Amino acid sequence: MCEVTIFEVGPRDGLQNEEKFVDTDIKIELINRLSETGLKKIEVTSFVSPKWVPQMADAAEVMGGINRNPNVAYSALTPNLIGMEKAIASGVDEVAIFAAASETFSKRNINCSIEESLQRFIPVMAMAREHNIAVRGYVSCVTHCPYDGEIAPSDVAQVSEALLKLGCYEISLGDTIGKAAPGDIKALLKVLLTSIPVEKLALHCHDTYERALVNITAGLDMGIRTFDSSVAGLGGCPYAKGASGNVASEAVLEMLNEQGISTGVDLEKLNDVASFIKNKLK
Ligand SMILES: [Zn+2]
Repeated sequence: MCEVTIFEVGPRDGLQNEEKFVDTDIKIELINRLSETGLKKIEVTSFVSPKWVPQMADAAEVMGGINRNPNVAYSALTPNLIGMEKAIASGVDEVAIFAAASETFSKRNINCSIEESLQRFIPVMAMAREHNIAVRGYVSCVTHCPYDGEIAPSDVAQVSEALLKLGCYEISLGDTIGKAAPGDIKALLKVLLTSIPVEKLALHCHDTYERALVNITAGLDMGIRTFDSSVAGLGGCPYAKGASGNVASEAVLEMLNEQGISTGVDLEKLNDVASFIKNKLK
């Protein structure tokens, strides 16, 4: 059957939501172990002000400390120009920027309007181009927003198209609060696919209401072939109830394996990594 890419976001999106600071050497070991599972994409860290996200204060040490597997693209979140400079200096393969599909979420989360956030990315994108670094775009709240409720697919299309126009190679659609049902995902994609090629879209499902796997299946049905997930479900239950709720990579892989979909990732090895990090976070 088809080939799917699992985009592992545990070391960044997962650990970022851990309350307790995770030691740098544990982060490095986690990424090194993930690098040997067959994963091709790993989001390693975030080059963000340690004032905002203390958990990611060691971004440069983590990037500098890992054993680079040439078959893996290592990515980092870069919210601004300073972050981008640091990410490039640390040798990332690609970076990610983020915008929201909801105006209120944008204002509350990054303190500016959607349009302002896009404007801020122009110099960041220029620097990425200059250094030949691929940029991924995250769009949050693609179906529901904690403040504005349901989000219109046309709003998601608008911000996704803007990010692609800025030069992003792929848009990762985030169900930030995990409220989407498969019907919402399909309705959203139906609209997006009228203007965006399916290979430029990825899904980032949260399992807050245990709907991530059915939503991923809906995405698969619509032709999506890249899915974000977090080893051991880092950043979600059971470690931080009510937090972001990332779906566990091993659960996604198990489901894909059952459907005969190839990912190149070894389930046994991935389960071992999940056990390793669960033990460390006990
Ligand atoms: Zn997430």
